[in-house]
Amino acid sequence: MKIGFIGLGNMGAPMAANLARAGHEVRGFDTAAPAPEGVTAAASAAEAARNADVVITMLPNGQILRAVADQAIAAMMPGAVLCDCSTVDVASARAVADQARGAGLAALDAPVSGGIGGAQAGTLTFMVGGDDAAFATVAPLFQVMGQKAVHCGEAGAGQAAKICNNMILGVTMIATCEAFALADKLGLDRQKMFDVVSTSSGASWSINSYCPAPGVGPASPADNGYRPGFASELMLKDLRLSQDAAESADADTPMGAAATRLYADFVENHGGRGQDFSAMLPHFAARHRQ
Ligand code: NAD
Repeated sequence: MKIGFIGLGNMGAPMAANLARAGHEVRGFDTAAPAPEGVTAAASAAEAARNADVVITMLPNGQILRAVADQAIAAMMPGAVLCDCSTVDVASARAVADQARGAGLAALDAPVSGGIGGAQAGTLTFMVGGDDAAFATVAPLFQVMGQKAVHCGEAGAGQAAKICNNMILGVTMIATCEAFALADKLGLDRQKMFDVVSTSSGASWSINSYCPAPGVGPASPADNGYRPGFASELMLKDLRLSQDAAESADADTPMGAAATRLYADFVENHGGRGQDFSAMLPHFAARHRQ
């Protein structure tokens, strides 16, 4: 397939490189980052989008997506698919899908889980909103870039799934970190704490696969000085998206609201920016209170 790939950052570059390695013709554009090996550099978003069967975007936020989509949609061939893999607000995802459909194109919102490691290894999970035909067109590309693609529903359903998943993740990471900090104060060895909780009812991905305590459990950013991984400010971005969505849908998310407040305080007042989101453990251990 001919693919336009816009946004060649930490996630986009390895995803585009994997598509090129699988034999697809990939033209990439980024305002700052270079094109990875196998990807032809385009001079603009429009140039990357022109003549492509599928245009994939992997951008920082909804505002940038809307601006880039304006340029891409104007250049795309009728019947081509615009597939946004960024994490953005549901309203932006739906607005871009409407705009694409109005121009005779198809659109998917297809945010990912799995991080930079998953992007490099081609093991991402895609959660996808949009119509069946567009999903079927892009499915072979999801197979190259990932190991699983779940078609969640109509436009915006992929972003809805992503926001809900990451709200759970933010909450369980905080619960795990505050429990470790409490266990410290109670004189409980961290390894024993892991051994019990990881096989008991307090288990979650946050402790079993991404343990915030250094030297305990499988290798994680905690073992690397809390270098991200998944940065705290990105977790804060996703939690804020969940709270915006909850507000507009009139949903009650008290734990999500608490997690948002705690990550905002960590990022804005306690040096959390640039640290992995599991660095909540040393933060709580130092007893920083809001
Ligand atoms: P990044 O900042 O490394 O990459 C974004 C890229 O977009 C940058 O290279 C930037 O130069 C480029 N860009 C900005 N404006 C542009 C424009 N107008 N035209 C073309 N390119 C432009 O971010 P990332 O880590 O690759 O994340 C991308 C998206 O994926 C975000 O929405 C993020 O929330 C999501 N995500 C990230 C991770 C992760 O672990 N990093 C995991 C899942 C989802």
